[in-house]
Amino acid sequence: MGDRPERVRENLDRVKRFLGAEKLLFMDQCHGDGIVVFRARMDGALGPPPPRADALITDVPGAALLVKQADCQAVILYDPEKRVAANVHCGWRGNVCNVLGRVVERMVREFGCRAERLRAAIGPSLGPCCGEFRDYGKLFPSAFLRYRVDDCRFDLWSVSCSQLMEAGLEPSHMEVACICTRCRTDFFFSYRAEGRTGRFGTVVMLNSG
Ligand SMILES: [Zn+2]
Repeated sequence: MGDRPERVRENLDRVKRFLGAEKLLFMDQCHGDGIVVFRARMDGALGPPPPRADALITDVPGAALLVKQADCQAVILYDPEKRVAANVHCGWRGNVCNVLGRVVERMVREFGCRAERLRAAIGPSLGPCCGEFRDYGKLFPSAFLRYRVDDCRFDLWSVSCSQLMEAGLEPSHMEVACICTRCRTDFFFSYRAEGRTGRFGTVVMLNSG
């Protein structure tokens, strides 16, 4: 989107250096429910080019998982006992296809995680103050109506929390930053506020300790 490749590369390198990461994994995000699992000895499996997907899961320390966003949610999931982490790109389309539920299911199935043990964090993203969807009748299933805050605004943070609870997470294990990107363009890129814009990132990494 008009960003110079060498600058993007430099920024990605900065993230990697800052975290002391061995690898920085990211995706060609497409607002779907594709999940990529990164395990030890999978060198090269994640590109380039990056895989087309919206969720990354790993149990490999030092492998940082990056989600790029500008209003969509990045949702971090973590199992402190099995030491498995996930980072999910979830915009309204992700909510509609319940990508969060699918990621929890995959963590349970593939890593033996227990949903009630998982921690979840929802970062800065489009808030209920600005989540306007005039065509909601066409876009959303009727179950989403309960998250309508007024005429055509929706609380997608609550949608995500409900989907995580349906997947088995404990409410006390979930945290929402409650920072709206469209309101806070002084800190974040917002597609809704700015149209053509950059992306900011959310990263999670298991340390080796
Ligand atoms: Zn807002």
